[in-house]
Formats: sequence, C-alpha cells, structure tokens
Amino acid sequence: MTASPAETEALAARLAARLAVGDVVAVSGELGAGKTTFVRGAARALGFPGTVSSPTFTIGHRYEAPTPVAHLDLYRITGLDAEEWGDLEPYFDGTVAFVEWPEHGGDWLPVARATVTLEHVDESHRRVRITSEDDLGL
Ligand code: ADP
Ligand code: MG
Repeated sequence: MTASPAETEALAARLAARLAVGDVVAVSGELGAGKTTFVRGAARALGFPGTVSSPTFTIGHRYEAPTPVAHLDLYRITGLDAEEWGDLEPYFDGTVAFVEWPEHGGDWLPVARATVTLEHVDESHRRVRITSEDDLGL
C-alpha cells in the first residue's frame, strides 16, 4: 500500500533498480490508479530528469537517459495488427519499457519481466502489487 504519489514513485524506483535494458514492465489499473505516477518514479530512478507525462494522445514516449526508458499507453488501442505492432516495436529496442493498458496489446507485446497492478483504496492510498517470475527482492 502507498499513501501518496511520492510513495508510489519511491516503490517504482526500487523496482527500477532491478531492471535492465530489454526488460518490459506491464502496468495495469483503472484510470487514475497511478500508472503514470509509477512510470514517472521509475524513469527518474533510471536517470531521466525531464517531464514524464501520460502518452495517452500519442502511443508512447521514449526518454533518453543513461538507461533509455520507453513509456507506452495502449488505452486507445483496440486489437493490434502487424502494421501497428511494427510502429510500436522500436519502443522496445534498447529500452526498459513500461506499458500502460498492456491488456490492449494482446499477444503482440514481449513477455513482461514484471507486472505492476495498482488499485484505488481511497483518495491518497493505492494498493500496488508487483509480480515477477524472478525474485526481484521487493
Ligand atoms: P493513471 O496513469 O493510472 O491514469 P496517474 O498516475 O496519471 O494515473 O494519476 C494518478 C492520480 O492519483 C494523480 O493525480 C496522483 O496525484 C493521485 N494519487 C493520489 N494518491 C496516489 C498514490 N498513492 N499513488 C499514486 N497516485 C496517487
Ligand atoms: Mg496514465
């Protein structure tokens, strides 16, 4: 459970410390659950100093940092086809990639190293679950 956006960012930073280029993180949860906040904390921890905002009106952002970070939001995607996947694929190349609304990516997305699920508890609290096949020590 986190009690503020700052706590969610700090938790994301702990996950980020375990990640390497090539890793994909699926970030699930309803609108306003804190997905973008989580990605912001992770991108900061990976060395990106700039603004991390929702890519809802584009498909994704690529943040150039010591560890490049991709930030995708598939909210508007309804069933990818090969051509659309071709547009998305470069985001995964040489980055740690965070994907909001991964459910909309179907089977095209690379297998996630970790899955983060955020749930509203109340205005300032979120339940955050991080699952992975690997022991991330979180
Ligand atoms: P999403 O990307 O899931 O739609 P955002 O990260 O854009 O969500 O927005 C989450 C909103 O909830 C922000 O306004 C943030 O300030 C607020 N918030 C309140 N408490 C928390 C918390 N514990 N963790 C994350 N965000 C929180
Ligand atoms: Mg978002």
